[in-house]
Amino acid sequence: MGVNRRNFLKIAGLSTLAGLGGRSALELLAPGELEAREQPLSKGKTWGMVIDMKKMDEALIEKCIAACHRFHNVPSIGNPKEEVKWIWKETYHHSFPGRENEFLSEKVEEMPFLLLCNHCTNPPCVRVCPTKATFKRDDGVVIMDMHRCIGCRFCMAACPYGSRSFNWGDPRKAPAALNPGFPANPEYPTRSMGVVEKCNFCAERLAKGQLPICVEVAGEEVEGAMVFGDLADPDSEIREVLREHYTIRRKPELGTGPNVFYVI
Ligand code: SF4
Repeated sequence: MGVNRRNFLKIAGLSTLAGLGGRSALELLAPGELEAREQPLSKGKTWGMVIDMKKMDEALIEKCIAACHRFHNVPSIGNPKEEVKWIWKETYHHSFPGRENEFLSEKVEEMPFLLLCNHCTNPPCVRVCPTKATFKRDDGVVIMDMHRCIGCRFCMAACPYGSRSFNWGDPRKAPAALNPGFPANPEYPTRSMGVVEKCNFCAERLAKGQLPICVEVAGEEVEGAMVFGDLADPDSEIREVLREHYTIRRKPELGTGPNVFYVI
């Protein structure tokens, strides 16, 4: 099996670290540094998501948010201005501005919508990043390399969906009362102060052939509440759902090509 140059250098670097300290290389890395580990790509795929709002309710939405934030060690900060979020809920009016009308059904008007990074086809966040800390993988996942993030927040200004959060403080020092047992998932790295973060479509789970955690949790409660799959495969479940249902996306008029679809 071939080893490319980058992997070779990574292995060589880790071996050196291990040799220096007598401990495993991963033990010697600060938790935030683990984020740069490469995730295997799902070759030839273009990942997308459908959220069927007819099957979602507020309790299920809360469950999805809690599961994601627990899995990815996203702390509760307690101050909305410094909030860090990967997935969150919002009203229809705020989620789909310009699509309101005075005759909108009460249900749609009042229900919360589950929002996350849209893993856009033409992501403006990627275009403006001066260090390429955020980039789009071949399988459509827009991802962050925290090592390269210099905290300029251009990506936050460029994202028209509010999908990115800035770590104003050290997430590892978030209020303990709001974060009992933090970090909840020792297998996922915590981040450091001064970097931007966002949903990564659970790239680490995709690499293992698993669904994003929100999709898994929603599916355990209501079949088909969220569907994740390969938009490039006309025979995939997600393509079937998109064929059978009318869906809307957030601000498609901006040309970003959001890859999260909503059945309403
Ligand atoms: Fe970038 Fe925002 Fe699109 Fe996500 S939703 S890919 S952060 S522009």
